[in-house]
Amino acid sequence: MGTLTMKFGGTSVGSVEALRQAADIVLAQAREWEHLVVVVSAMNGVTDALIKGARTAAEGDDHTYRGVVADLRVRSYRAVDDLLTNPGERRALLAAVDGYLDEFTAFCHSVRILGEVTPRAMDTISSLGERINARLIAAMLRCRGAESEAIDATELIVTDDAFQNAVPLMDLTRERIQARLTPLLERSVIPIVTGFMGATVEGITTTLGRGGSDYSAAIVGACLDSDEVWTWTDVDGIMSADPRLVPDARVIPILSYAEVSELAYFGAKVLHPRTIRPCIERAIPLWVKNTFNPASPGTRVNSEAESTPGAVKAVTAIQGLSMITVEGRGMMGVPGIAARTFAAVARQGSSVLLIIQASSEQSICFVIPSKDAPAVARSVEQEMALELARRDIEQVRVMDGVVIVSAVGAGMRHTPGVAARVFGALSQAGINVIGIAQGSSECSISLIVAADDATAAVQEIHREVIINGSR
Ligand code: ADP
Ligand code: ASP
Ligand code: MG
Repeated sequence: MGTLTMKFGGTSVGSVEALRQAADIVLAQAREWEHLVVVVSAMNGVTDALIKGARTAAEGDDHTYRGVVADLRVRSYRAVDDLLTNPGERRALLAAVDGYLDEFTAFCHSVRILGEVTPRAMDTISSLGERINARLIAAMLRCRGAESEAIDATELIVTDDAFQNAVPLMDLTRERIQARLTPLLERSVIPIVTGFMGATVEGITTTLGRGGSDYSAAIVGACLDSDEVWTWTDVDGIMSADPRLVPDARVIPILSYAEVSELAYFGAKVLHPRTIRPCIERAIPLWVKNTFNPASPGTRVNSEAESTPGAVKAVTAIQGLSMITVEGRGMMGVPGIAARTFAAVARQGSSVLLIIQASSEQSICFVIPSKDAPAVARSVEQEMALELARRDIEQVRVMDGVVIVSAVGAGMRHTPGVAARVFGALSQAGINVIGIAQGSSECSISLIVAADDATAAVQEIHREVIINGSR
C-alpha cells in the first residue's frame, strides 16, 4: 500500500517483448500499491536518432532525418500492431505517431533552412520519443484492462530555461504534480509520464540532460511523497563497475545516497547524477531493478547504508575529458588567481569535474569536457593576459584525452590504506597516474589517467580492490 513511482528506461521499453514485460510489471505492481505512477523514456536509440536527424539537418543534409522518420515509423507501427488489440486505440495511436513524425519532419526542415539548431529547438525535437512512448504504453495498459493516461511532463515539471540541462523549480513543480496527478491516482488511473522533459514557466519545452528520465522519476516521486521510487533498467542493479568494461562486475545490494551520488557523478550511467537529490530530501528509498529479471531484488539506495561492508564498492570512469593546467612560479601567494581562473571557466558555461591545486600554489589544474577545452583555455588566457606577459604564469596547458577513474565507497573513511591499494593496483599494471583528488566526503578517490589506460585502470582497481579486497 502507499504510493510507488516507477521509471522504465530505453531498453525496458525498446522492443515489443520488453514493452510486454514492462506492462506485466506495471500491472503486477498496480495490484500491490494503492497509487502507482509510471515515468517512461523513449525507446532505446530513439533520442540519439532524433538528435542526429536535427544535427545533420542543420548541416544541410535532408536525407538523414527522413531516414530517421522512416525507421521510427516502422518501429512504432510494429509496436502498435503487436500490442494494441483494440481497433480504436490502434487508430488513435497511429494518428498520434504520424502527427509527431510530421512535427519532427517540419522541425528538421526549418532547421535545415536556418542552418542551425538552437538548444531550445533541440529540446522540443529530442523529447518526441518520450511523447510517443508514453502514449503507446498508456494505450497498451488500457488494452489490457487498466485505467491509464499519458501525460506530458511539460504539464508537470516546471524548469528554468537552461535548455538541454534544465533545473526544476521544485515548489511550482510540486503544485502542478499534485494538482494534475492526485485526482487521477484517487480514481486508480495509472499516469504514464514522459521522462526527460519539462517546460519553462512560459511553457517552452526543456530537457533535464541526457539520461534524465531517472531524474524525472525522482522529481515526480518526491513531489507525490512516494513511499519508494524504482527505476527499471537492463542490468540487475547498480554494479561494482560498468559490466561492459568489467565482465565480472557484481550487483551491489545496498548503497547510501552519498555513495550513489558519487558513482553517478563520476560516470556510472545507470543513474542520472541528479536523481538522488529529490530522494534524499524526502528520504525516499530508491531501487534499481532489471526489467528482464524482475525476480532479482536489485539495488536499494537509502540513507542508512553507509556501514555495509567493503571499503570500495564500485569503480567508475568518465571519458572525453581534457585537463587544463595553469602554472607558473609567479602565481605563488598572489591572491585571487583561482577565483579568476574559475570565473573565466564559468564564462564559457563549462562545468568543472575535478580540481587539483598543488600545495606550493605553483599550479592549478582542472578537468572539463574536451568539447569545451579550446574555448575555456582561450578564456583563461585572456583573463591572465597580464600575468602571462609578465611570466608570472608560464602557460595555460591543455592535455586532451584524459579520463577520470574513481573508486567509491563510504567505508574508505574508516579503512586505512585504501589509496595505497588503488595506486598499487595501477602501478602493478604499469599505468601512469596523471593526477589525484580525494572528495572531502571521503567517499571517493579520483585519478586522472590517459584515455588509453582507462579500461585497464578500471579493471585493475576492480580486481585488486573490490574482488580481492573482499576476500
Ligand atoms: P536506461 O535506458 O534503462 O536508463 P542506461 O543505458 O541509461 O539504461 O543505463 C544502464 C546501463 O548503465 C547498463 O546497461 C550498464 O551498461 C551501464 N552502467 C555503467 N555503469 C554501471 C554500473 N556501475 N552499474 C550498472 N550499470 C552500469
Ligand atoms: N531518452 C533520454 C535519453 O536518451 C532520456 C533517458 O533515457 O533517460 O537521454
Ligand atoms: Mg538511463
